[in-house]
Amino acid sequence: MDAAGSVVDSVVIRDGRVAFAGRRGDVNPAAREPALDLGGRAVLPGLVDGHGHLMLLARSRLELDLTTAGSEEEVARMVAAAAAQRRPGEWIGGRGWDQTRWPGQRFPTRASLDRAAPGHPVALVRVDGHATWASGAALARADITRHSPDPAGGRVAKDERGEPTGLLIDLAQDLIRSLVPPPSRDRFDEAVEAVITECLAKGLTGAHEPGLDLAAISSYTRLIGRGRFPFRVFAAVSGKKAWSEYRERGAPESVGDGQLTVGAVKLWLDGALGSRGAALHAPYCDDPANTGLVLVPPDEVERLAREAAARGFHVWVHAIGDRANTLVLDVFENLRAAGGPRSPLRVEHAQILAPADIPRFARLGVVPSMQPTHCTSDMRWAGERLGPERLAGAYAWRSVLDSGAYIAGGSDFPVEDANPFHGLHAAVTRRPREGEDPRWQPAQRMTREEAVRSFTIWNARSIGLEADQGSLEVGKRADLIALSDDVFTCREEQIATLAPVLTLVGGVVVHRADQDFGASRSASRASSAGSTSDTSA
Ligand SMILES: [Zn+2]
Repeated sequence: MDAAGSVVDSVVIRDGRVAFAGRRGDVNPAAREPALDLGGRAVLPGLVDGHGHLMLLARSRLELDLTTAGSEEEVARMVAAAAAQRRPGEWIGGRGWDQTRWPGQRFPTRASLDRAAPGHPVALVRVDGHATWASGAALARADITRHSPDPAGGRVAKDERGEPTGLLIDLAQDLIRSLVPPPSRDRFDEAVEAVITECLAKGLTGAHEPGLDLAAISSYTRLIGRGRFPFRVFAAVSGKKAWSEYRERGAPESVGDGQLTVGAVKLWLDGALGSRGAALHAPYCDDPANTGLVLVPPDEVERLAREAAARGFHVWVHAIGDRANTLVLDVFENLRAAGGPRSPLRVEHAQILAPADIPRFARLGVVPSMQPTHCTSDMRWAGERLGPERLAGAYAWRSVLDSGAYIAGGSDFPVEDANPFHGLHAAVTRRPREGEDPRWQPAQRMTREEAVRSFTIWNARSIGLEADQGSLEVGKRADLIALSDDVFTCREEQIATLAPVLTLVGGVVVHRADQDFGASRSASRASSAGSTSDTSA
């Protein structure tokens, strides 16, 4: 993944970094240095999720997982089962429901939750995080009634009689979220460790995390201090509380040996397409009175962006709808016109783009941070929301790349699975992992090389750390994966099933598949020697 696309067969690692990358014959490691023979397997730099929520993935492990529920009734049954295990009045939380996967595709209402768990406040977050489905008891605790107005940037859904249905869109979710008790520190720390282990086994060695809160930063810092955080997170803080603290601290802060960097600020322009909160220039095709939600006025986004950039923070702005993307590019154009900042600016999702906006990314030095699996998940219904004309600018990877911009690739986990090979598969096929569906807008596909770059070197460039990570070049961090098969030569449909047989972070083996491979004379030493081990592979 260097600029030339070099392929090498040997890497020497010292002090957690690449000390040599080239031909085996050109290096002569000392006999005492442990060596790993990978038996000719394909090795890539560790894949990094350019937009992944480790904190939310960890929290979701402590709540009901609703991602597999096939109907509102099935969710209600899961809630009833949870209620039977809890004290009366105790909160029940969950995440991952998606009405577009249910018969009828209608939004759920409080009624089913009130029957399933009477007396329990229930708050269930939609798969995209942009809507919460609440029970009557939860609404009561938050004082949400027929008289409650829509808060700025949010919507309290009401039925034809004017009663709240239990559905809270975008910022209206805050009315309830602040009341849900957080998990205990110990339980949360355990959950973070568990999801890191999962990510390492899937081939991720790091993530860019938009919207980390102070409790999660403390948890990561504790785990790093205990040597239990073998992962790299480049995080953006969000929300008034976290930003007011980091604004005072000034320069971006790094914890451990590059494991956690709090170096960006996450801002929001709009909601999401699935809950019709994405801000569009023209109304939704399937909701003609609605053009979506602008959550924060562009003036305020610009003020916060300038404030963050002046203190050395990267600026990442969530924009999904075409109107939101126009607005954020206007904000970034103003920032660039005023001479700053030097760092890349990022648009998170950049999902639906007006044709005239596409060339602005490259021109303004703005990186679209895109999630290929959003395309293959949304393709079932995106056409109904947008109509055929706007689809031309939806998930428009090829148009973006051809305009001279590069893409930061990610998954938005837990919205999608954290598996980066699902993302690589979606990027090069534009079809779902299962079934016989034809390719969707096949002209917008990425090549395999572009897809892998978007999860490695382009991600590193998008956070200004291209000299430190993203490729296996001398001096960079030795984060790498050895693969079950070669992502560049395997059959296309196989890409989604690839997995690392070995994952190294900072030169230390942090994941090893069960299968026995390339029996190495000192493999176990490498995995147990800690961060000072020298490994040549
Ligand atoms: Zn996200």
